[in-house]
Amino acid sequence: MRMETFIRKALRLKAHRVVKVEEDEGAGELTVHLDRVGERRLRCGVCGRAARRVAGTRRPERRWRDLAMREHLVQLVYAPHRVWCQVCGLRVERVPWADTWQRVTHALARAVAALARELDWAGVAAHFRLNWKTVGAVVEGAVLWGLAHRRWEPLHVLGLDEVSRRKGQQYLTVVYDLARGRVIWVGRDRTTATMERFFTWLGPRRAQAIHTVCCDMWSIYIDAVHTHLPEATIVFDRFHLSQYLSRAVDDVRRQTWRRMHGREKAEFKRTRFLWLTNPANLQRAERTRLSALLRLNSPIVKAYLLKEDLRRFWAYRSTAWATAHLRQWLWRASHSRLEPFQKLARMLRRHLDGILAWTRIRVTNGALEGMNNKIKVISHRAFGYRTSWMYIANIYHCCAGLPLP
Ligand SMILES: [Zn+2]
Repeated sequence: MRMETFIRKALRLKAHRVVKVEEDEGAGELTVHLDRVGERRLRCGVCGRAARRVAGTRRPERRWRDLAMREHLVQLVYAPHRVWCQVCGLRVERVPWADTWQRVTHALARAVAALARELDWAGVAAHFRLNWKTVGAVVEGAVLWGLAHRRWEPLHVLGLDEVSRRKGQQYLTVVYDLARGRVIWVGRDRTTATMERFFTWLGPRRAQAIHTVCCDMWSIYIDAVHTHLPEATIVFDRFHLSQYLSRAVDDVRRQTWRRMHGREKAEFKRTRFLWLTNPANLQRAERTRLSALLRLNSPIVKAYLLKEDLRRFWAYRSTAWATAHLRQWLWRASHSRLEPFQKLARMLRRHLDGILAWTRIRVTNGALEGMNNKIKVISHRAFGYRTSWMYIANIYHCCAGLPLP
């Protein structure tokens, strides 16, 4: 088969033909020149209808990148016609090998979008020898298409979480389908307005099926859930609670450290890790060191024991026992004379229902920890996101399981 015929078939050309293929051996490039076939009908670039008439003037030559052929970069060159559409008027024709305004062909766009789920944009750009802006534009196109074509599946267990960008200066709210482990919605900020936008998008019919919401003790999320999903049970996310607990231990550690001197201070040096890690995950030598430290009479030891004690709460299956354990813990924390724990106890008391709901409904956003990490990784690929929409688009692209064009 001649190269021209091969390309015509690969691009599925009907109203266009390959005029010639130029090979630049030095640069490793193939340039494919295209033109219109006789009087075949062309389509409107806006609505896609067959145009009634082709105008006399053409647009200047444009270039599109296509999939490489045996290490050769392939470029298509074509000067689009202008056509008279009965609906849209005078427009540029629609070319069958690429979306309007894209600089790459459908085939290349598909390959780029698929790889962009695995690699960062710079890596994808390097692989296909493209500009990263082109990669961004392809991902954006794929996401818009995917969002418009995704199949809706009933939603029962919702996860609400926030991710921060630029060191906490910018927040996004991420909504998960916890049953399927997917992102279903991403919105800017974490305000009441964000939640209003989410519930407007969701609509009352889809909201009806939701019976459980897992989230952080963030009052805006809680209020929004109470307003829009009055029947749903809120379960506070275990991993957020563990974070609060670790923070309290660390606050005590820092306060204690500041008051220490000399040898005592030396002994506590570089122990943060020991206090915060689950003892089951420590190495033998670390465990020995920790048990020596635990013999000291210090506020940090008290804090550590409180932390380990609350951890046992998660193992309870009986609501009655769990409630008894939690109440006793709250009493001890409030009487511990450790200010961070007193504060924590006050917060937990205000949200007791949502914490105890865990004993009945064992859901946690932690099932999505992998996904959460993925979102963090995406956010660290900072370059390429000129706008938060680009960041949002990439979260959808990598975590929402959208269909690809
Ligand atoms: Zn039209």
